[in-house]
Amino acid sequence: MPRTISSERFRDRFDRFNDIGATDRGGVNRPALSDENERARDTLVEWFEDAGLSVRVDEVGNIFGRREGKKNDLSPVLIGSHVDSQYNGGRYDGVIGVLGSLEIIETLNDAGVGTERPIEVVSWSNEEGVRFQPDMLGSGTFTGKFDVEFAYSRKDKDGRTFGEELERIGYRGEEPCEPRDLHCYLELHVEQGPKLERAGLGVGVVEGVYGFVWFDAAFEGSADHAGPTPMHLRHDALVATSDVIEAVRRITGTGGDDLVGTIGSVDVSPNAINVIPERVEFTVDFRSYDDGTVDRAADRIREEIDHAAKREGIGAEHEEIMRIESQSFDDAVVDAVADAADDLDADATRLVSGAGHDASYLNRVCPTGMIFVPSVGGVSHTEDEFTEWDDVVTGANVLLNATVEKANERPGDE
Ligand SMILES: [Zn+2]
Repeated sequence: MPRTISSERFRDRFDRFNDIGATDRGGVNRPALSDENERARDTLVEWFEDAGLSVRVDEVGNIFGRREGKKNDLSPVLIGSHVDSQYNGGRYDGVIGVLGSLEIIETLNDAGVGTERPIEVVSWSNEEGVRFQPDMLGSGTFTGKFDVEFAYSRKDKDGRTFGEELERIGYRGEEPCEPRDLHCYLELHVEQGPKLERAGLGVGVVEGVYGFVWFDAAFEGSADHAGPTPMHLRHDALVATSDVIEAVRRITGTGGDDLVGTIGSVDVSPNAINVIPERVEFTVDFRSYDDGTVDRAADRIREEIDHAAKREGIGAEHEEIMRIESQSFDDAVVDAVADAADDLDADATRLVSGAGHDASYLNRVCPTGMIFVPSVGGVSHTEDEFTEWDDVVTGANVLLNATVEKANERPGDE
């Protein structure tokens, strides 16, 4: 018989936790290392300790709570997510993964169930990347993608560094932030897309995460008066940008089934009604599960930017600022999640995540898997983010059973 968590206890914790930094419109505002994030962390540490977990904080503020196993020299099963939010973000993103993991510990405690391996619950620092870039900074540093000094040096828009702010809220811990021996990592998260809801399913067994490429780009034209300058004498940086926006649509239409592309930020100067745009800075984001598809899209957009500059007779710059390869999760962990969903008679399907997660980095250092629950309307990163509570509970039950399964594996079992 599969085990199940307490829906009421989990819900009560979820609601109390989301009182911290609650917004008028039903969301939460707890960006990384803010006062609200500090209060959320304090609450978490208190609850971890109440559940009998021994708490450690590492150099970049990742919080670990450990429940010992029968054999504590065996590597632990790590479960968790993050509790920082977007500015005016949703109540579910990250939170259900951390509080769901805590609920699993409470369920095992209540039942008096021990596991062979220790289980550790983690809350990663700065997953969202809205105040300090890049995102997934805590898990990225833990897995060796970034070093600690790089993390400390990140600045918010007011010039305050990640290191100073971490110190200020009291979460610059002692434990070295570095990869260590982990049996596996499991993360419960909202889908943040519409696939599960559209298919009428409750659980997503995540097989991997899209790879992506990011560009910073700019056009430099000339600012002239919008009245006296004839059309054929203009060098308009915004017209060139619009060509590139259109090109992103064309590239995604022909570049591969799952290829998605976005120009999400455009900064026009001087941005005045009667002046021809002189300079436009913009970003490009391409994603696919196939790294070759991302490569080809990146090559094509570089050409399109150069061509648009030539057509308009202006200068262009483009720089690739981030590239993350797609991640395929570990077959055995994915199967453990699928089996747990099966045992619970959950309506589940296998899918791939379009969004990056802490699990993407963890997959580099240990066998990893994820569980998705539906996002109503596919909406996330806004105050309207919503998941039916029954779906959250089903996801947590899948996490519980997959975690127990993995935590009882002895060396050589796998
Ligand atoms: Zn998240």
